[in-house]
Amino acid sequence: MIVLGFESSCDETGVALVSDTDGLLSHTLYSQVAMHQEYGGVVPELASRDHVRRILPLTNQALADAGLTLANVDAVAYTAGPGLAGALLVGASVAQSIAWAKGLPAIPIHHLEGHLLSPLLADPRPEFPFVALLVSGGHTQLMRVDGVGRYTLLGETLDDAAGEAFDKTAKLLGLGYPGGPALSKLAEQGDASRFDLPRPKLHSPDLDFSFSGLKTAVMVRAKGLGLVKVGEDDQMDPQTRADLAAATEAAIVDVLVGKATLALKQTGLKNLVIAGGVGANRLLRERLAVQLRRFGGRAYFPPLALCTDNGAMIAFAAAMRVKAGLAELNTERRAFTVHPRWDLEDVCQAD
Ligand code: ATP
Ligand code: MG
Ligand code: FE
Repeated sequence: MIVLGFESSCDETGVALVSDTDGLLSHTLYSQVAMHQEYGGVVPELASRDHVRRILPLTNQALADAGLTLANVDAVAYTAGPGLAGALLVGASVAQSIAWAKGLPAIPIHHLEGHLLSPLLADPRPEFPFVALLVSGGHTQLMRVDGVGRYTLLGETLDDAAGEAFDKTAKLLGLGYPGGPALSKLAEQGDASRFDLPRPKLHSPDLDFSFSGLKTAVMVRAKGLGLVKVGEDDQMDPQTRADLAAATEAAIVDVLVGKATLALKQTGLKNLVIAGGVGANRLLRERLAVQLRRFGGRAYFPPLALCTDNGAMIAFAAAMRVKAGLAELNTERRAFTVHPRWDLEDVCQAD
């Protein structure tokens, strides 16, 4: 079975072809990051319009890369939420139109389920059950995963997501948007021990997170050093900026590693799967790999290119749901909707 998958929930247009037996056949991606950069964040209307511009050329390219045509496709999948309504509607309409024209089923997919299952696209592939640490721009969650559609939330952030903490601190340090990768790169030249930043909730017995205080702590340190207005009046020397970046990264990573370890202890599971954009962070990858070895378990990551938003994870999640008997393969009913807000529990299997 070959699934054509579309992702358009935010500022990446992604299209991919996945086979249930041969895995990923091709994927194409266009990131709108440069377009939104001058606004310091994603502008929803611009995002929707750009998805419209990119999605068909990306589809043709994905088909060509895989050496296939639409006649080879057995099902179409798309991100139905959560995300920006207008952006989601682009992927949903294109997917539904292709499905209608070709008499194929169209499978709506939850964006986080896509992230969550993406480490299964890598080799070696983790076995169920495992603990998943989902760390993206909008979410920070620890989940117990017993199978496809069998997800139990163990804990989540009470305020900012880990990716948001990276992005907001990066902005504060004048590193632009999205700041995670830039902050992480700058941190390589910094000395994390120079600034003692808080590790929010690291020692609490629950599995929740809180990152909003971290940004404030960095701001207080930055102001103390004379950095009053970011970009203008910037009086911070490059080394101090790098040291602050390193201290921020170290604080976020410490908390993520600590809570992931606690989740493994509490569930008695040995394997940890990391998903979402922050999963691309090198320090987090290194620290988790070491920690899990010490713990007698193993850390599994998605391929680096599939950490942030992409179509492959959506096509793959759909193929997995079909295999598990969890996707409705309807080719008659064509009404559809998108869900800008959507709980992952809504796509869980009833026990
Ligand atoms: P969600 O999936 O929750 O809706 P999203 O789709 O915006 O949010 P992703 O695309 O999964 O999130 O990830 C983007 C986030 O990952 C951004 O916050 C970005 O800064 C962060 N990120 C990407 N690479 C790195 C890195 N190397 N280090 C730290 N953070 C990173
Ligand atoms: Mg993005
Ligand atoms: Fe995402």
